[in-house]
Amino acid sequence: MKLMRDPKKLQAILKQERRKGRSIGFIPTMGALHGGHLSLVRAANRENDVTVVSIFVNPKQFGPKEDYAKYPRALGTDRKLLQPLKVDYLFCPTVRGIYPRGDGSLPAPPPLTGSRPTAEKADSSLSRRLCGKFRPGHFRGVMIVITKLLDIIGPCRLYLGAKDYQQTAVLGRLVRDLGLAVRIRVMPTVREKDGLAMSSRNQYLSPEERRRARAIPKALKKFRQDLLNRKGTIASLKARAIRELKRIVDRVQYFEIVDPVTLMPVTKRRREMAALTACFVGKTRLIDNVIIRASRQ
Ligand code: AMP
Repeated sequence: MKLMRDPKKLQAILKQERRKGRSIGFIPTMGALHGGHLSLVRAANRENDVTVVSIFVNPKQFGPKEDYAKYPRALGTDRKLLQPLKVDYLFCPTVRGIYPRGDGSLPAPPPLTGSRPTAEKADSSLSRRLCGKFRPGHFRGVMIVITKLLDIIGPCRLYLGAKDYQQTAVLGRLVRDLGLAVRIRVMPTVREKDGLAMSSRNQYLSPEERRRARAIPKALKKFRQDLLNRKGTIASLKARAIRELKRIVDRVQYFEIVDPVTLMPVTKRRREMAALTACFVGKTRLIDNVIIRASRQ
């Protein structure tokens, strides 16, 4: 595993690799690695000749009141976790390396008004809803950093986790709109034994908060089960899920049932749906989701 800091050097090396006919699997991360990240690395190993992992805590995707400063940084441990896997290049650029003109976070975009270009409207239907509504500018920051990283890495398979479901949709649209030679591979959410989705932010939780956090995957699973068993309408089951969650977590930011492609809310059951939620346990914001597939209408 070669540690790379210089974007230009990595770009040149990967060009060489491709010239030799080698395929590249790329896993962008913000570090503080866990089993979820490692599953992406394993998938990239299986499907490519060369595996590149990046660790970069991207200032542009954090809001001014968010946890950029205290986001866990653990390069030593991360390297140890990656060691047994086959990672060819570990790319750890500096903030200057990625943003030579400064890392000032972007101001929140203005609210959409009637007559904006359709491309922006299409984008905003994905990136301003759900998490985007509560984290203005977040997906814009994600899109900027991923565009920059993909420019360095070049044509590749890009490995993303289903845990960040909206992110996979936003980046799918980005890759399509820019016509990039990038194939996105979305991998299933890796969970702790009790069902909690693995996340770098789980380490913020106190033991008591950690116990309460279990309620999130439980509520999603129960919602899916009850919907599939026709125990109620989407609206009634959603209201019940929120009610039950509110008893245990500190805030339910949203709990939405959406079309898995457009992320638009659905009110009538259909063959495929996604239930997504963001909740606060203490000061920690946790997200999770489940896909709901009915075998028949
Ligand atoms: P992050 O370091 O949080 O930016 O995540 C880097 C990548 O790992 C993203 O594509 C995430 O969706 C993915 N990821 C994070 N947590 C999990 C998980 N529990 N299971 C699968 N993938 C995950």
